[in-house]
Amino acid sequence: MKRVKIAELLKNSTAEDIGKDILLKGWVRTRRDSKNVVFIALNDGSIIHHIQIVADTEKFDEALLKDITTGSSIAVYGKLVESPGQGQSYEVYADKIELYGKSPADTYPLQKKGHSLEFLREIAHLRPRTNTFGAVLRIRHAMAYAIHKYFNDRGFYYLHTPIVTGSDAEGAGAMFRVSTLDPKNPPLTEDGGVDYSQDFFGKETNLTVSGQLEAELGALALGEVYTFGPTFRAENSNTPRHLAEFWMIEPEMAFYDIVDDMDLAEDFLKYLVQYALDNCLDDLEFQQKMFNKQLIQQLEGIVKNKFKRLTYTEAVKILEKSGQKFEFPVSWGVDLQSEHERYLVEQHFKKPVILTDYPKDIKAFYMKMNEDNKTVRAMDVLFPRIGEIIGGSQREENMEKLQKRCKEMGIPEKDVWWYLETRKFGTVPHAGFGLGFERLILFVTGMANIRDVIPFPRTPKNAEF
Ligand code: ATP
Ligand code: MN
Repeated sequence: MKRVKIAELLKNSTAEDIGKDILLKGWVRTRRDSKNVVFIALNDGSIIHHIQIVADTEKFDEALLKDITTGSSIAVYGKLVESPGQGQSYEVYADKIELYGKSPADTYPLQKKGHSLEFLREIAHLRPRTNTFGAVLRIRHAMAYAIHKYFNDRGFYYLHTPIVTGSDAEGAGAMFRVSTLDPKNPPLTEDGGVDYSQDFFGKETNLTVSGQLEAELGALALGEVYTFGPTFRAENSNTPRHLAEFWMIEPEMAFYDIVDDMDLAEDFLKYLVQYALDNCLDDLEFQQKMFNKQLIQQLEGIVKNKFKRLTYTEAVKILEKSGQKFEFPVSWGVDLQSEHERYLVEQHFKKPVILTDYPKDIKAFYMKMNEDNKTVRAMDVLFPRIGEIIGGSQREENMEKLQKRCKEMGIPEKDVWWYLETRKFGTVPHAGFGLGFERLILFVTGMANIRDVIPFPRTPKNAEF
């Protein structure tokens, strides 16, 4: 007999299926005993809902029933019946139960409901078994799929950029070194430094902080490309919005200017949020009930509202005039903190905001310089609850200007010669952006801490699981 998943069963069953024999497999969430029957709530991870199994105590071996406790894994052969209970349409009358694995009640950490998210982080190997992490991980999957679908449907090509990189020019953050040298006894150069020419790649290498520079190489050949992969930042920022290992989506488009770039970012985010509303409603309703009573309304707000677009300079004026007491004071030239970004989005405009034309000194060397020589054609998309969710820009396509920026920012041309060559041979205007995948998932799931939207979070002092 073929096993049916609970998601398929609940979606596809009709009145004709009542009375049919079925086989379910999954994990016991709860078990409740009444006089002659045991009620088992079974979940198989395919959907947030459990299905109730009704087992007649007379039909089953007492020893078997004793082992059917929270967390244990079973196969159930039985008949599908309409459920008299509220809030469930079907249940299953068990004819035969096979036990795969016990789950001793005295040691199973998820024996009881209602554990704190902090506690669950300490048992990241088991937390996917909870309703919350089931919902978050299914939504995460749906968003990853929607991202590929969005780009594929629009003729973008998925470009795999390297994880190990020999360039540290992106300047997006501190990097993790990749090396096979003996840390206790590394080869040294004459002046006493580590001799990386003897290392695996013959030079210093690190984990990538962004696939952008390589994505540009792809865009300047294939037209429209995107990367979607892990990125690594060795910053010691212990915030609810930063991970040391996170996933980033980076589209890069030839012949786009900054306005095209913003249009794409806005359309892309709206598409993803709408996709979640259309395809993950069960999980979203659960998340709303548990974590954020306004969740679905907030998601609809993204789709409905036109994002407010203004310059960094205008935003700083608004913040200065706000009369708001910020932890970090604002003035022209400072990098905005998430408290400033959230004020603009949540208090002032009450809708997502796209800020443009940032001071050149707080942005990367590759961003296109404006006429004023003070600001660059950067754009950040700011979301409620999150602050910055996307950072992007039009890229400098002019060779001389780009070389000048490298010099000013102390980036040796020999480190980025391959990047500069794209401006030497057939350069074109182009633009792109980076969306932090976990920040998107934070927003969509209504969770508050980024550690709770990735299966195995990597943060300072934490890489156990
Ligand atoms: P922030 O100012 O919030 O630290 P950033 O400006 O350093 O971010 P970018 O280099 O612009 O980030 O990266 C592009 C996107 O990647 C950001 O808009 C954000 O969504 C996401 N992101 C950046 N750093 C992290 C991180 N440490 N953990 C998770 N997501 C991140
Ligand atoms: Mn940024």
